[in-house]
Amino acid sequence: MKPVYPLRRTCKEASALLIAREDRALPWVERLALRVHLAMCQACPRFERQLLTMRNAMGQWRHYTDE
Ligand SMILES: [Zn+2]
Repeated sequence: MKPVYPLRRTCKEASALLIAREDRALPWVERLALRVHLAMCQACPRFERQLLTMRNAMGQWRHYTDE
């Protein structure tokens, strides 16, 4: 029998959570699961950085168009 890790997420799930986090606040369980995954994973922290860079770029773009 496979042990159950309630906080284990696949990379696919983790990246979906990272994207969802841009739009809405995640339940604390999901935030915790995401943090656990990011601590164990190589690829997802990189993806998170890309998302943050993209969000910053979008924020600047919005800032420019507001003026
Ligand atoms: Zn991952």
